[in-house]
Amino acid sequence: MRSPRYTILIANRKTGAVRRLTVARRVAFVVAMALWTVPILVGLGAKWAGRGEVESLRLANDNLRIENESYRTATGELATQISSLQTAITQLGDQSNLDPAVKAAIDKLPAVIRSRAMGGAIPTGTPIASASSDSPSRTFGILHDLLDGLGAKIDTVRKGVETRQALAAATPSIWPLVSGWLTSSFGSRPDPITGEPEVHSGLDISADRGTPVQATADGTVESAGYDSGYGNCILIDHGFGIGTRYGHLSGYAISVGQTVKRGQVIGYVGSTGHTTGPHLHYEILLNGEPVNPLRLLAR
Ligand SMILES: [Zn+2]
Repeated sequence: MRSPRYTILIANRKTGAVRRLTVARRVAFVVAMALWTVPILVGLGAKWAGRGEVESLRLANDNLRIENESYRTATGELATQISSLQTAITQLGDQSNLDPAVKAAIDKLPAVIRSRAMGGAIPTGTPIASASSDSPSRTFGILHDLLDGLGAKIDTVRKGVETRQALAAATPSIWPLVSGWLTSSFGSRPDPITGEPEVHSGLDISADRGTPVQATADGTVESAGYDSGYGNCILIDHGFGIGTRYGHLSGYAISVGQTVKRGQVIGYVGSTGHTTGPHLHYEILLNGEPVNPLRLLAR
């Protein structure tokens, strides 16, 4: 049986010519199906293309999230580093506040003693590269290096401050007696017993027998014993080439090798050795040479 046929008439308005097109129903169905499915296929294609785009956006988003996470970590590390630097700087600020009397005494020490204490110069750091750069991770790297460099500089400064503190502790800056009368100064004078001219190597401070004698700076007891003219005598080594001597004592409150603090009682006023009455003979020695203690005693 033959498929039914359809005839389509196409007329030209101007010429009046008529074309006739006869198609089988099956062909008409196929054409209609084609016209109907093409837009659907186009839509599906668009959908698939969109899906690919979404996938690539998702990947990009994942990458950004990972990058963001690593920046957050890097920022956290930088913040920690900055806060530890701030703590270090605050501590240095506190440490570098010396007692004014000690500072004045240090300033009066000979340059050779001070330079021994302070040592070499602070090394200069490597030049800091510009932080402007193409990639943020490079900027983080540069900031990290910069903070490392600052940390190293603070360590160097801290060593300097600690040495300065050690020198401050070692500098004789107080009177060895809380109360007494200065009866003889440093320098040339007639010997109090023989009347012969002599160079007096320290200060004589008169006080009652048994008055406590205190160390004038931190140090180690180098000797404590009878030493002819000095009588019972204590010698303290303060390091940095600084020493102090305390003579004519009636007794000791320390033993040899003991470390002592500034202000600690080390012995008692007496009149042992070459003396006419109870008093303390006090010397400051720089590199073994006696200097005028009044130079370091600002008060
Ligand atoms: Zn004396």
